[in-house]
This record gives sequence, C-alpha cells and structure tokens, in this order.
Amino acid sequence: RPRALSGIQPTAGSFHLGNYLGAIRQYVALQESHDAFYMVVDLHAITVPQDPAELRANTRLAAAQLLAAGLDPERCTLFIQSHVPEHAQLGWVMNCITGFGEASRMTQFKDKSAKQGADRATVGLFTYPILQVADILLYQADAVPVGEDQRQHIELTRDLAERFNGRYGPTFTVPAPHIVREVAKIYDLQDPTAKMSKSAASPKGLVNLLDDPKVSAKKFRSAVTDTDTVIRYDEKDKPGVSNLLTIHSALTGTGIPELERQYEGKGYGALKTDLADIFVEWVTPFHERTREYLGDPETLDSVLAKGAEKARAVAAETLAAAYDRMGLVPAK
Ligand code: ATP
Ligand code: MG
Repeated sequence: RPRALSGIQPTAGSFHLGNYLGAIRQYVALQESHDAFYMVVDLHAITVPQDPAELRANTRLAAAQLLAAGLDPERCTLFIQSHVPEHAQLGWVMNCITGFGEASRMTQFKDKSAKQGADRATVGLFTYPILQVADILLYQADAVPVGEDQRQHIELTRDLAERFNGRYGPTFTVPAPHIVREVAKIYDLQDPTAKMSKSAASPKGLVNLLDDPKVSAKKFRSAVTDTDTVIRYDEKDKPGVSNLLTIHSALTGTGIPELERQYEGKGYGALKTDLADIFVEWVTPFHERTREYLGDPETLDSVLAKGAEKARAVAAETLAAAYDRMGLVPAK
C-alpha cells in the first residue's frame, strides 16, 4: 500500500471548516487506500508562543476531533509529533541541506511573520517548513493530503528529498501533494478572498467546528455575498456565493451545477439559511463524538501511545538510514 502522511496544528482548540473540508476529510478517505500516518503537530505549534496548559489541552482536543471526524486507529496511525523524537532529529538534517535563500522564499513565513510583527517572529517559525519536510520524509510518504496553502511546502519537500537522494544515494520517497481541487481553499465567510484560517483577523468569517452551532449558523446567515441576486458559481466575480456553493456541495454531495439549478430564482437568503441548517445537522453528531473521546482519556491516551510506537518504528529506520548515508557513525 502507498503511504500517506499529514499533520495538523493544535493551536486554536477547535478545527475550522477549512481544515475539515480541505484536509481532514481527505485523511479519512486515504485510510482506505493508504498506509496512513496522521499527527497532531505540537512542535509546529510552539513556533509561536503557546500557553503550556492550553497547548496540553488543545493537543488532546485535536486528537479527539480527528477521531470524531472519522480517523479509525485500526486503519491508520494517529500520534502526537513530539512523541516521536526523530522529527526533530531529521529536521536538523534537513536544515543542513536547505539554502537560506530557499527557505526565505516560503510565502507562509512572510505572511505569518508579518502578522506577528517582524521582530517577534522566531527562528522556529522561519524553519517550520523544514521540520515539515522531515515530518513527511520520515514516513517515506507517497501522498500528503493538505490544503492549497501547503503546496509550496510540499514542493520544498520534493526538492530536498531529491537533493538528499542525489548527494547520498536513494534514501527518501519523493512525495506528491494530495490536494482535492474543489475544497483545496475554503474562504473566510466575511472576506471571501482570504483563506479561512485559525489566525483570521476577525472571528466572524471563521467557522469553528466546536463553536456553539447556533453561533456558526448565524455566521452562515450573515455571510458576505454580493449585490447581485443570481446564485451561480463564479470564483472571480462572485467569490462569496461560490464559497457557499462549494461548502454546500462538499457537505451534501450535490454537484454544483445541480445546486445552481435547485436555487434558480431563489435569493441568497435561501442558500444561506439552508447551508446553516446543513452545517448544524452535520456538526451536532461531531460534537457528541468529540465529547465522547475527551470523556475517555484512557482510551485516547492508549490510541496515541500505540500510534507513537508504530510511527517510531518507521521513523527510526528512516533516520538511521539518513544518518548512515551522510557518514554519521552509528552508536554501538
Ligand atoms: P494557521 O492559519 O495558523 O496556519 P490553519 O488554519 O492553516 O492555521 P493548519 O493546522 O496550518 O491550520 O492546517 C491544517 C490543514 O488544513 C492543512 O493541510 C491546511 O492546508 C488545511 N487548511 C487550512 N486552512 C484551509 C482552508 N481554508 N481551506 C482548505 N484547507 C485548509
Ligand atoms: Mg496553516
């Protein structure tokens, strides 16, 4: 079976609808076809300041949400990144074959450091994509399910895998991004030209899965559209309406042309109200399942412990091969 690997940050507590549609749903699907490894990337989270108690709680909450979304520990490996020390170790190796200029071209760092204030951005935030390279290469992943915003980081991963393989001999699988075009970028409901993001400027356009469903329903009902009245998919001229159609289609499985037919002659209000209802119906059982996993910390811990053990076996083998190829003397 081909391998899949992906990671998600525990930073905000709740995942948002962009995380779910762009990434987590693909994690669930790939369990069927791939030997899949998924992790909560706490080492990535600490590239910006975190409150220790919150980080601890959010990391477990993230794992509970992944299980609630449909990850099955019998069919995939779910773990916490920091439980597998090889991530930091191979991260260092990757730092040492990355050019400074090459790392400086990563647009996500530019965006995130600008938000932080340039003086406050850490070296960790700068090298974040390089740790991500190590995350992926450790598992010899073929496919990396992610949203569109991660494309550049996967490209870097491919470059570094090829560079290492070229210098030291075949060591790493060169991975490909697994990006599902239709849902690769879910937009903010208030600013439909910006990606829905955990670190959004205003919470009004951000649909958090764990918010009170009433609050989310209201966000859908007050989503920004345009001054026209026609419900038609047109990313360029109708980004707000197009985003709502994308979300509707993803949650109901109805194709967009079919939705356009269904809503012919109806106003934006009907689309928004329907979508609010559809979301609430989908998210309510998700809340229940998340609560169940959180309410049973023994099971959660044992899933994560078994996951870390399985992940470590794979990661240790890859790291040992990489060290050896580079000429590091193995410990006896
Ligand atoms: P931050 O803004 O702090 O980076 P985030 O919202 O991007 O947070 P991440 O944990 O970085 O969340 O991303 C987890 C996964 O969700 C990644 O694969 C990312 O590509 C995907 N993703 C994030 N936002 C969206 C979105 N708006 N649409 C589709 N996929 C998304
Ligand atoms: Mg992100």
